Amino acid sequence: MKRRLATVSFVVAMLIIVAARTANAENIDLQALTQETQKMSQKNGDMTMAWWIPEEFWAASLAQNPQMTTSQIEEFLKVIRPYTIVVVVDGTMGAFGGITYKSEDFIRANTRLLDSQGKSYVPKNEAEVDVNTKNMLQMLKPVFVNMLGAMGQNMHFLLFSGKADNGKQIANAKDKGQFRIKLGEKEFKWRLPLDAILAAQNCSNCKQECKGSWSFCPWCGKKLSKETGRETIILPVKRALISGSEEGARS
Ligand SMILES: [Zn+2]
Repeated sequence: MKRRLATVSFVVAMLIIVAARTANAENIDLQALTQETQKMSQKNGDMTMAWWIPEEFWAASLAQNPQMTTSQIEEFLKVIRPYTIVVVVDGTMGAFGGITYKSEDFIRANTRLLDSQGKSYVPKNEAEVDVNTKNMLQMLKPVFVNMLGAMGQNMHFLLFSGKADNGKQIANAKDKGQFRIKLGEKEFKWRLPLDAILAAQNCSNCKQECKGSWSFCPWCGKKLSKETGRETIILPVKRALISGSEEGARS
């Protein structure tokens, strides 16, 4: 019982933070991460969004709440870690701007995850998902509805396998790779690693700042050294884990 209450309170706390959008430095990371992980398509009156929510997003959101202890964050991450989580909303815009949303059944039946080898995965059905993960997502739903209205109501969490057949993680925000989400004829592609979690690098030749994922400087063409790039930004959660011993003792 105590455990369940703790879960409820920190999920609620996290969503308040996600909704708040105050402009401090840590939130800028989170916004960049959100932008980079949300893909939209608006063609021929269709409006489709696929949002891959990587572990780093949850970690950064949770860590922005000073009341969250490191062990609570870790407990939360354990629940979502076995899956590749993608939120999908799909609708058609009518002549007067109203949106008709596709049903969850339709979205589930038509959405596939494709790993870097092109292997296709179907969303896991209810029986295949851990009960703790299901509870957690159920608690998130009303918050999305409050934040986004009808769109939130029609956002569906699809849980795919976290790992490919070869045991490798399908979507790892920190590693080189790619994966796709296909919904009917629409395709969304993520190239990894994500820039939002990589430290920027400076070109050794012209000194311009380049994104962490770039291999070549776009201004002078110099090959960027791998040692300076590819460094993962220490997300708030890691900072919390490093300095978290006293917090851990309190919980
Ligand atoms: Zn350069």
